[in-house]
Amino acid sequence: MADLEALIFDFDGTIADSEPFHLAAFQRTFSEELGLELTEAQYRDRYLAFDDRTMVRAFLADRGAEVEPARFERLLEVKEAHYEALGASPRILPGAAELIRAASARWPLAVASGALEGEIRPVLEGAGLLDCFGPIVSAEMVGRGKPDPESFLTALGRINEALSVKIRPSGGLVLPEACLVLEDSVAGVGSGRAAGMRVLAVTNSFPREALSGADRVVDSLEEIADTDALASWFREPG
Ligand SMILES: [Mg+2]
Repeated sequence: MADLEALIFDFDGTIADSEPFHLAAFQRTFSEELGLELTEAQYRDRYLAFDDRTMVRAFLADRGAEVEPARFERLLEVKEAHYEALGASPRILPGAAELIRAASARWPLAVASGALEGEIRPVLEGAGLLDCFGPIVSAEMVGRGKPDPESFLTALGRINEALSVKIRPSGGLVLPEACLVLEDSVAGVGSGRAAGMRVLAVTNSFPREALSGADRVVDSLEEIADTDALASWFREPG
């Protein structure tokens, strides 16, 4: 088995406790603008891992609602404004800050998220974690959001670009199989697997059974605070 060489974190629900704010922002938007209801279960089961654009497109298609392009863009703007108003400072989930600090001392770290850049950077900065990360791949930077593997592969490409300007002991590029993806959603786990990466899922948003597509499932990132143990597990899972 390959050695662990890079970690790529999902953001919403993995690092930040922001999913309740996304749900509330969508609920307000659809209720005010379209008179349509979105339940928590519907959001979790179908839309949670999507970036906003993909989410709104899927929601409208599911409800048989058609809107003009300008109205579609307005829905995105209204949602973003509601999110900003609601989720100014989502808390960092248990164990995430400790893991990010410890892991950044030995591996390159990236974020691959369906959230907007402006929703990610201020939270990381506020928690003193922004400097721990190299690339931050947000919704604006990819054509196909999760469950497509593009965001994770883009993050790995950026990691390799950054490493290529330094001298690496192994001399080569980091391969997908040497990356660990950290995710909270079912679609996100599928995205990481489709990228050819190892996936560790945390049960912040879904029950353990739903995340069985991951290589390992933990109830909190506190369980992987020991980076030596994490490296050993990666080398010899099981
Ligand atoms: Mg997530």
